Amino acid sequence: MRTYITGGTVVDTEPEPHALPGAVVVIEDGVIVSVGPDPGPPEPGAEVVDATGRIVMPGLVDTHRHLWQAVLRGVCADRTLGEYLTLVLGRLAPAYDPGDVYAGVLWGALEALDAGVTTVFDWSHVQLTPDHTDAEVAALRESGVRAVFAYGHPGTDDAGRDPGAVRRMREKHFPAGEPGLVTPAFAAWGPVFGPPEAAREDWLLARELDLRISLHAMGEGPVERLHEMGLLGPDVLFVHVNGVPDDGLKLIAGTGGTASVTPEVECRMGHGLPETGRLRAAGVATGLGADTVTVVPGDLFSAMRAALAAENSRPGRGDAPRLTTADVLRMATIEGAAAIGMDDRIGSLRPGKQADIVLLDGEAAGLAPVHDPVAAVVGAGPAAVDTVFVAGRAVKRGGRLLGTGTSTGTSTGPNTGPNTGTGRARELAARSAERLARL
Ligand SMILES: [Zn+2]
Repeated sequence: MRTYITGGTVVDTEPEPHALPGAVVVIEDGVIVSVGPDPGPPEPGAEVVDATGRIVMPGLVDTHRHLWQAVLRGVCADRTLGEYLTLVLGRLAPAYDPGDVYAGVLWGALEALDAGVTTVFDWSHVQLTPDHTDAEVAALRESGVRAVFAYGHPGTDDAGRDPGAVRRMREKHFPAGEPGLVTPAFAAWGPVFGPPEAAREDWLLARELDLRISLHAMGEGPVERLHEMGLLGPDVLFVHVNGVPDDGLKLIAGTGGTASVTPEVECRMGHGLPETGRLRAAGVATGLGADTVTVVPGDLFSAMRAALAAENSRPGRGDAPRLTTADVLRMATIEGAAAIGMDDRIGSLRPGKQADIVLLDGEAAGLAPVHDPVAAVVGAGPAAVDTVFVAGRAVKRGGRLLGTGTSTGTSTGPNTGPNTGTGRARELAARSAERLARL
């Protein structure tokens, strides 16, 4: 069955963000069929979504987030990176049981969808046992989000490494064939947090298993070391990169590597100023991320604005071109998709791509009147997200997540239909949060 999204202001992002007032978006079998002024009359039985007063745009792409931390919301709001490592990775992560992983990832994924984030690169370093892995993949699949599940060894040293567990994850959850909405990747500590030899083994294993590799990398050291070890490449996604010297950025660009900037976390936790401008100048495809809701909100509207504020107030930026609303919207969509190797499938409304589509309420207080649709998108918030489609399937309509309803929060059954999903997820998250808070 076809779906026609009519009467809205379409904002597409490829090659650059631009508005197409009055364009109609047609979807069939989860894929965008056409975007244009006149697709002809909908055939009998077709679904017509009236988007009058709405902005119709591609789903947002988060290139770096630790979904499992959703049940720890705000616990590091005033903490530094060092304090976060001690509390969250040192104390709380080792205490996570598979139920906590399931609760955190499900609640975090629903939070992303609610905010119009249809794809999340889920960097997960809480894989304490195979049961933890099974719980995480189950939660991602149940949520309806499009996700890249990046498996990370637990802990920040060599002790938690288990190559067998990576192989098991790949074989059990991602056998050959149609991958569905969740695909695998590898979350690496790299040659700075861990020993170089372990990094080499991880890289070789990830490449053998066809897994994109992502690592946190800041300052002098990580990029240069990977270069010396011959491990750079187009399958490596660098996170943060604050303070990486120009030569390091050139090495990333020259090998086709990509980057993820998480501007609000970086500013607030002391990573350093976001490198948005330098990465763009170096020609590195760069996406945005919320990173961790232990510190910041889990939406990309605030990440886009944090990137703008940080870059355009950066001391000594001289005559460097200003970062614009179009730049950050691009990073939160098509460029972010490129950063995680998925720009052939998502990130814009080009026909043939997956129908990951968001409708914003352009008539809402705080958004109307819309003079400049691109600026309006960047100025929006999760409350303006009216409708969300992932692969053509509605997961939010009329401002409410589907599966949400009048749940009393007492349902413990599987998420089988309306009025159970979000209430149950909220309840599981609350229980997990209560348990972890006692530690
Ligand atoms: Zn991170």
